Amino acid sequence: MEVPFFRHKLSSANAGSVANVLDTPFLTSGSVGRAVEQQLCEFFDVSAALLTNSWTNGAVATLLALGIKPGDEVIVPAMTFIATANVVELLGGKVIFVDVDPDTLVITPELIEAAITNKTRVVIPVHLYGQMCDMKAIQAVVAKHANIAIIEDCAHCFEGQRENYRPGAYSDAAIFSFYATKNITCGEGGAIITRNQELAKKLAKTRLHGMSAGAVDRFKKGAYRHWDMDCLGVKANLPDLLAALLPDQITTIEATLADRTRLANNYRTAFADLPIRVQGLAEDVVSAEHIFPIHVKPDVRDEAINLLNSNGVQVAVNYRSVPTLTYYQERYNHQDSDFPVSSDWGHGTLSLPFYPDMPDNEQQYVIETVKRVVVPICE
Ligand SMILES: *Cc1c(COP(=O)(O)O)cnc(C)c1O
Repeated sequence: MEVPFFRHKLSSANAGSVANVLDTPFLTSGSVGRAVEQQLCEFFDVSAALLTNSWTNGAVATLLALGIKPGDEVIVPAMTFIATANVVELLGGKVIFVDVDPDTLVITPELIEAAITNKTRVVIPVHLYGQMCDMKAIQAVVAKHANIAIIEDCAHCFEGQRENYRPGAYSDAAIFSFYATKNITCGEGGAIITRNQELAKKLAKTRLHGMSAGAVDRFKKGAYRHWDMDCLGVKANLPDLLAALLPDQITTIEATLADRTRLANNYRTAFADLPIRVQGLAEDVVSAEHIFPIHVKPDVRDEAINLLNSNGVQVAVNYRSVPTLTYYQERYNHQDSDFPVSSDWGHGTLSLPFYPDMPDNEQQYVIETVKRVVVPICE
């Protein structure tokens, strides 16, 4: 049997909403995206939402809006996708990596507090694999210091919750990704949500070159209007052509989450008594169940990948610890022992096939294959 790592849920059946945009005069950001932004405001109970063409560009726009300058320190967990750190590097900031909790694999208030200095300007907690960090406690710790903003990396966590709150409740901004493999996708895309109206006004500019008015507003009622630029921005707006794919996925997200949760729990039950580790979930967390990684002894990880691949099971690695990658190694010269949890997880993890429509027989095959070829090399 061949089991793919991932299959998305979109098909030509979703083409109608894109075809409708083709019949309007503006292909770029217009009324379709605005309606999605309204939908996001209601879903997350926030006052502003701005669609972007990626998480990455949304984060650059947010750091620009917050006025990040070269030399400013930004706290980032070592266990994340590279983009979380890259956006800081792009703006000349200094990435301050911190380790993660050995059980939940997310950053904690204590680890953040220990890394804060008088140069810290931003903290970026990452809701890894769909599990939200303890945002309430993180905000309380950060609030003891003046002038430090919190940006949530919600690329894995659209539909997750913690103590019944969602992303955006205890931060200055929360940023989503609608990249091809994310829980909600339009191929490439993202969104920023915020409760801060001042920040939202700046974001409207930093998301679009720094321009004071978007294309649709510049041509309102057929009359041309001048625009100005009073701050530096990036090109991060999402075109309506892509935004058109989002509304139905947002409406059906709870049903999709039920499928993800059932599949994730099948894996958890199957591996419970085996020499295989999985991410621990904190109490009161509803994970968005974005990816299903497991962890084996680092010295057998690559052999496990090869054995799974040769038995038809596609896998991926999410992720190797960011400070161990060549660019970051050369730039910051950290040792594995600086972030022992993140390094060990990064050397031993592999992600199993996982997506909401995964057929039961495929999942059973993956579980049997893990037991047959991976478990023996772990003992
Ligand atoms: C996917 C991902 C990103 C980047 O998202 P893009 O939309 O591809 O820019 C950032 N952070 C994490 C944790 C991710 O998984």
